[in-house]
Amino acid sequence: MFDQIAQTIPYQQITVEGFEISIKRLDLVHPHISGNKFFKLKYNLLAAQQQGYKKLLTFGGAYSNHIAATAYAAQLFGFESLGIIRGEELASKPLNSTLHTAQRFGMQLQFVTREAYRHKQSSAYLAQLQQDYPDYYVIPEGGTNALAIQGCTEILSDEDQQNYDLICCAVGTGGTITGLIEASHSQQQVLGFSALKGDFLSTEIKQLTRKRNWQITDQYCCGGYAKTTPELLQFIQDFEQQYDIPLEQIYTGKMLLGLTDLIQQGAFPRDHRILVIHSGGLQGRLAAL
Ligand SMILES: *Cc1c(COP(=O)(O)O)cnc(C)c1O
Repeated sequence: MFDQIAQTIPYQQITVEGFEISIKRLDLVHPHISGNKFFKLKYNLLAAQQQGYKKLLTFGGAYSNHIAATAYAAQLFGFESLGIIRGEELASKPLNSTLHTAQRFGMQLQFVTREAYRHKQSSAYLAQLQQDYPDYYVIPEGGTNALAIQGCTEILSDEDQQNYDLICCAVGTGGTITGLIEASHSQQQVLGFSALKGDFLSTEIKQLTRKRNWQITDQYCCGGYAKTTPELLQFIQDFEQQYDIPLEQIYTGKMLLGLTDLIQQGAFPRDHRILVIHSGGLQGRLAAL
């Protein structure tokens, strides 16, 4: 099923300030396993299956695209799933649409305090988890691990390696951009637009790949993860109207805001061929946009 879908990703051409840009519409690969999450889950689900697991466990915030995608994919592949969700206070509130959807796809939800959630990568916490849930295959937050990176190398086709000078993507945990970097030709540049403030991601990604044909900017994070500005929301509205491509405010909106700004600043040569990865995430789109 994964292979069939990945071969049919549509491209859409748009013109921004005279630049021809191709948008690779991963948001269209699957209605529920959206965008890059599909590629990040692929080899994890196959490994869980091969190792005989029947249950999956993963982590996320209340609006997590990864939680929504994993819930659906787990059900499709016949796994039980458990989502560990940041924010104990959410347990006593009606579920938002992400969590409601995850539950509808059979995911069991467990709410933990923000304090406990912060330690989710510590070895003590993971050891405890292994003890509490011995028969669960654990997928880290945002789905990023070596198998996820392997899956994300498949986002780029052979043609994509030949046809473009610059590849742009949104960055959260960095798994997707690492896969793109690994799959890129060394003549190509990969430019990541971080959804989070800070340059810790560049440090992390340097540990994951030996290639150096990439860069990450947090200049368009609009103040930090899940933060928005009136300018960003207006940009998304205008972009959607002009090109008929839906965006959301956490990742893809910030990426295209940044790319448009860089183009306007004259950051790229006129004949630069640009590929933009639309990583999906539309389940988390603000209804108010
Ligand atoms: C999760 C997500 C990202 C970030 O991917 P990472 O591999 O965590 O960097 C980017 N765009 C969208 C739409 C996402 O849902």
